[in-house]
Amino acid sequence: MPRNAPHELNADKNVTTVADTLDDLAAQTWHKITVGPLRGLTFGEESITDHNLFELDRLAPEVEVYKFDKSEEPTNGADFEWWIGSSSIGWLGIRFQAKKLDDGSYAQLGHRVRGQRQYHLLLEQARQDNVWAFYCFYNGWDGPWPDGVPNITCPRNLTPTWDQAGTSPCTHAALQDFGCAIAPAAAVASRHAGEPRKGRLAMEEYLQFSRPWSHLFRDRSSRLLSASPSIPIIESLLGDWVLSAVRPAQNSSMSDTPYGQTAMPPEQGIHASLPPWLQARRVGASNGEGNRPSVAVVFDLS
Ligand SMILES: [Zn+2]
Repeated sequence: MPRNAPHELNADKNVTTVADTLDDLAAQTWHKITVGPLRGLTFGEESITDHNLFELDRLAPEVEVYKFDKSEEPTNGADFEWWIGSSSIGWLGIRFQAKKLDDGSYAQLGHRVRGQRQYHLLLEQARQDNVWAFYCFYNGWDGPWPDGVPNITCPRNLTPTWDQAGTSPCTHAALQDFGCAIAPAAAVASRHAGEPRKGRLAMEEYLQFSRPWSHLFRDRSSRLLSASPSIPIIESLLGDWVLSAVRPAQNSSMSDTPYGQTAMPPEQGIHASLPPWLQARRVGASNGEGNRPSVAVVFDLS
């Protein structure tokens, strides 16, 4: 049985609540990563994912989170999946691999699963399953936005800061919103494939095409999707973002791996209905068959 009864809240209220909750969780993540190690309380990637998704389930009434048994290392390269939509407008699927910032870089980006790069599996499998492939970076540092890194959330490329009281140069995003920052996997893969053999690329290389995860719903200056939550609007945002991120990433990469060709899902990640394994869980059945992630999150916009 669906956990959430239909509710009377209007769409504007719904979407605002989800995005606000996502920003709050991003700020908490930022704090955990910045302060945790100083206190000898370092959080692992999986703990952060569990905390954030549990809180999302608890705090946002239109969000349902389902955790699945982990029998082996997922071969689809994913940690969690978002399904945004409703039974009447259809569903948009986005698959995420999480990576935590550690000493200025994402140490596990080059992780191999059965001899293949994890991002390669993520992109290949996402394409087969018609879902978008993204990274979710958990960030936090003690200091300002790094010099010289573009802020793609801002048309004027102003610097995100801590202050949302009206004095921040950028009104689109606050610095700590990037505590949970998402980036197209194809751009990450292209950039990483050009990484020098010795030494990791700095976090800044990926931050330049990252956005706060709340920005799938709205940025801080506008209520992007508030009037009518719409799959085509999110899909078009994702498409433009992926294309603009993959092009410069490929240009600056020494690799000849054509990740640009697997950047987009074949049918824009749009599905008429939720995958069977998720439908089964939503009505209280045990785990259904299918290539499922560890955690699935349903954003029901109806
Ligand atoms: Zn701005």
